[in-house]
Amino acid sequence: MNFDRTEFLNTFAVVADRIDDFTEKKFKRLESCSDQDFYSEMLSAKITLLSMLQSNLLGCTDCKLHQKRIHMVFGEGNPSARIMFIGEGPGQTEDETGRPFVGKAGELLDKIIASMNLKRADVYIANVVKCRPPGNRNPENDEVLQCRKYLDLQIEIIRPVLIVALGSPAIKTLLETDQGIMSLRGKFQKYKGIWVMPTFHPAYLLRNPDAKKDTWEDVKKIISFLKEIDVQL
Ligand code: URA
Repeated sequence: MNFDRTEFLNTFAVVADRIDDFTEKKFKRLESCSDQDFYSEMLSAKITLLSMLQSNLLGCTDCKLHQKRIHMVFGEGNPSARIMFIGEGPGQTEDETGRPFVGKAGELLDKIIASMNLKRADVYIANVVKCRPPGNRNPENDEVLQCRKYLDLQIEIIRPVLIVALGSPAIKTLLETDQGIMSLRGKFQKYKGIWVMPTFHPAYLLRNPDAKKDTWEDVKKIISFLKEIDVQL
């Protein structure tokens, strides 16, 4: 990939330092900052960084998934989101449109987000791999390995308080574990200092509607946990 890493990392380092400094001052979130100039500057820095990353990924050939893709699906949402949802990889509709979670599973994800009293535009949605695995198979290890560095950069730029890991590939990638979803689901974990809630993928819920009640339990845990640590959404 033709990516100007130095330029990106220089911009990134300045922004990261300033956001860390800001967080230490105990503002609950960027939006609550009384210094509107600082807020606007940080938000636009995040937007710039994300779009630098996105435009550099447009022609990505790092793994074999580029061969059949129509669109690279970067991710979308609020660059200052408190909650980030991470799925496995684009399906057909996502490949056709270039947007994450816009098919049937996406409709259900929208409902999950709404059950937290949030809108899609309040959160950030991304995937472990950014190009569609043929036939919607699970992403393979080499594909995950190539793509996760870009997911990591997205996470570092957005700096969510909590990541909702949707389904096994997202859970395994973030937590670098072989433990199955059944044993991890509904239990808070950490990834690089960020809370992670592993839960079922919406596509699994469409196939197994009985499991929706488990996801609802996970959503309730997330809501009360964020209240407990006093995070405004
Ligand atoms: N499934 C995913 O994991 N991600 C999408 O974007 C759509 C379906």
